[in-house]
Amino acid sequence: MNFYSLNNEAPMASFKEAVIKGIAPDRGLYFPESITPLPKTFFDTIESLSNTAIAFEAIRQFVSDEIPDDKLNAILKEVLDFEFPVITIEENVAVLELFHGPTMAFKDVGARFMAHCLGYFSKSTDNEVTVLVATSGDTGGAVANGFLGVKGVKVVILYPSGKVSDIQERQLTTLGKNITALEVDGTFDDCQKMVKTAFLDADLLKNMQLTSANSINVARWLPQMFYFLFAYKQLKSLGKELVFSVPSGNFGNICAGMVAQKLGMPVRHFVASTNVNDTVPQFMKTGEYKPKPSTATISNAMDVGDPSNFIRIRHLFNDNFDALNKNLSSFSFTDEETRGAIKKIYGMTGYIADPHGAVGYLGLKKYQKVYENNYGVFLETAHPVKFLDVVEDTLGIGLDIPYQIQKVMGKEKKAIKISNYSALKAHLLQHH
Ligand SMILES: *Cc1c(COP(=O)(O)O)cnc(C)c1O
Repeated sequence: MNFYSLNNEAPMASFKEAVIKGIAPDRGLYFPESITPLPKTFFDTIESLSNTAIAFEAIRQFVSDEIPDDKLNAILKEVLDFEFPVITIEENVAVLELFHGPTMAFKDVGARFMAHCLGYFSKSTDNEVTVLVATSGDTGGAVANGFLGVKGVKVVILYPSGKVSDIQERQLTTLGKNITALEVDGTFDDCQKMVKTAFLDADLLKNMQLTSANSINVARWLPQMFYFLFAYKQLKSLGKELVFSVPSGNFGNICAGMVAQKLGMPVRHFVASTNVNDTVPQFMKTGEYKPKPSTATISNAMDVGDPSNFIRIRHLFNDNFDALNKNLSSFSFTDEETRGAIKKIYGMTGYIADPHGAVGYLGLKKYQKVYENNYGVFLETAHPVKFLDVVEDTLGIGLDIPYQIQKVMGKEKKAIKISNYSALKAHLLQHH
């Protein structure tokens, strides 16, 4: 399988090249040249398949023979060694919990899959790869954890100072070894801009192989389609039309869900739920895409003003607004509404949602107010304990700290402070 650049001015890349490059030389995102639906029997018998088997069938065509089948299976087994439960909390409303991995955010699956792919590919080259990644919260921890100790790969993580939670910061600054954290005096958008600039810096590229572990990387982005298939497997017997509400920031997760749909998975509709960073909800209202600077919110992993993957979603629908509009709704919610939802869900059902999941819940309810006769699933993308202050303060209760989090609480933070691109460049040149 080849991947082309959405800017159409770069050569086609193999899966391996797309993973190693991250972004195409013309700055475009890579997109698979074809998406072939899976046979109907796959969906007819999905409940009899293991998660690993489902994932293998779904991703095989994109990886093609660049990773042998037995190796790909082994990778998927390791990546998917935890649960993805669907829990019904109200009539026709369920939550899909994606936080049972090592860093308790849904990004664990993509980060681990990419780390394994890159580890596999780097065995056949002598060149070290440097993974450069900007995080608004959870990417950093998931990438640090997924890549820790992977031979031939160095990881540099940029995060906005003071704008990630204490637990998130510890998860990305305390591991050491091949992982370096850079604390940026700025916003997530500043971090992302610096990373994008680095990928175009001929000076740097002469000296090192740089790649991205943000969801622009196909190995981070595509495995996220597994979640939707795992949910379908669990809910199929209800015989109802499914609606997924996805708390969205860079729109990688929801876009992967739409790839699952292209593979033939029956879905009635997607809802992209956002906080006040509402570039996409505005687009769905006006048809005009107007990126803007990001605003800090209590659902900080979604504080994105110019979502990188939205262009992939538009492309999936051939840039046809009406076709997209039939399949996607998008709503934005304030922090106050989000806190209200956390309270309401807890009060009515006893379920503790994190701020991102709560935004997903709100989007789903808004859709279901207009469209009935469907079964709604909102994605709980992080464990509530990762946003401890907000959740405890909102509910007036204390949360138990799970083992995965306890492990990092006592560790010492190590980060290098930087404030501009030249500091990043100097760091990379010095340490590669
Ligand atoms: C990254 C993240 C999101 C947003 O996911 P995208 O794929 O960027 O849209 C939502 N919730 C949590 C907890 C996250 O970490």
